[in-house]
Amino acid sequence: MTELRTLKVALLGCGNVGAQVARILIDDADALAARTGARLELTGIAVRTIDAPRDVELPRELFTTDADTLVKDADLVIELMGGIEPARSLILAAIQNGACVVTGNKALLAQDGPTLYEAADKAGVQLSYEAAVAGAIPILRPIRDSLSGDRITRVLGIVNGTTNFILDQMDTTGAQFSDALAEAQRLGYAEADPTADVGGLDAAAKAAILASLSFHTRFDLENVHCEGITGVTAADIAAAKDAGFVIKLLAIAEKLTAADGSEGVSVRVHPTLLPREHPLAAVHGAFNAVFVEAENAGELMFYGQGAGGTPTASAVLGDLVSAARRIVLGGPAQTETTIGKVPALPIDAVNTSYYIGLDVADQPGVLAKIAQLFAEHGVSIEIMRQTIHRDADSNVESAELRIVTHRATEAALAATVQAVKGLDVINSVTSVLRVEGV
Ligand code: NAP
Repeated sequence: MTELRTLKVALLGCGNVGAQVARILIDDADALAARTGARLELTGIAVRTIDAPRDVELPRELFTTDADTLVKDADLVIELMGGIEPARSLILAAIQNGACVVTGNKALLAQDGPTLYEAADKAGVQLSYEAAVAGAIPILRPIRDSLSGDRITRVLGIVNGTTNFILDQMDTTGAQFSDALAEAQRLGYAEADPTADVGGLDAAAKAAILASLSFHTRFDLENVHCEGITGVTAADIAAAKDAGFVIKLLAIAEKLTAADGSEGVSVRVHPTLLPREHPLAAVHGAFNAVFVEAENAGELMFYGQGAGGTPTASAVLGDLVSAARRIVLGGPAQTETTIGKVPALPIDAVNTSYYIGLDVADQPGVLAKIAQLFAEHGVSIEIMRQTIHRDADSNVESAELRIVTHRATEAALAATVQAVKGLDVINSVTSVLRVEGV
């Protein structure tokens, strides 16, 4: 039997994900060698504190605080430190040394992906990052490889488990945002500082990556319109539920064609109403899912655990085996194509349906006034529902109006809402949310 060659693997970071990657590399060494055609030798693990407690017991001699030296001698580098620096410099150094790199660092890819992709292209090495979007779910490779003979038209993703957990709690228990967030923190689904999750930034980084691969054009964070879930109230959730919808934080990338025939891509993250029968409405708790629409394949749904050390390690190992196999077999590195060159569109160009909640005076003719104003702005109403409330103290009656529109542009909708606010019968506009999947 011929001796298998050995490929040196450097691991940067041994936290939630890194520790599980190290465990699998050691425990499953024979199986990984059989699949790869080379032995994957873990030569070292770079950390900040050598004796910090770890989730997995690992040989102490593997640990080092000298990441620069570790990277120099590796065929494959796995970056699981997170953050921008020193992760960025170490990845660039690894690429320049001719190593293939696997990373799960969505923040770095969204901020400075093009520099890394270009360096990898130039050096002819593979840069893989399946773990950066939706944890364990194989989504980037299916988009890049399996659908490479098709044309993707739209991607809708629940790509942040924390916000899905919070919205799901609000939907199932009627909780306010702050209580659902506290519960997510208690159960370990949300960080002590949840800003990146609830503000939508984490999902925006993933939206940029999904859009880039789906539309063969490099998009970064600046191209993503981002709204988080901090403004979603228990009343919004209840009203949506009543109207047959569920509210999800969606990362959306879709190709749009303007009236003049020119094409562009809208990349956005915002709370979205989905009909309760939509496949993404059934994604509960901290799970993730990505719904892809392609011209020939039609609708596809990818579902699974979007975070966690062991699930995410599965995605990292998949990338590692694939990169190692390429080193063994030779041939060009597999890089994403950038032939699309479609411009990123501003949010104003988006054409979608809207849900609008209005607190109005309970007077005759109010509905007609509002309907006329919508019509004057070219926004057509699909559903209009009214509920009457009586204030127990003042005995004054008011009405809550819930409107779902047909597709309209953001600009037309914004002008309509502005005009509605000026009507004397309007007490307040309680919510304006976008609707997908109708
Ligand atoms: P983590 O638990 O915070 O672990 C980070 C590790 O990196 C620690 O071992 C830390 O060393 C080491 N490290 C940090 N800065 C370092 C430095 N300057 N020099 C040397 N070592 C350094 O992170 P994680 O949750 O495993 O996440 C790792 C990456 O995977 C991130 O990019 C994250 O976005 C991505 N990701 C994570 C998940 C998930 O579920 N956790 C899912 C998808 C993607 P010490 O242990 O000594 O402090």
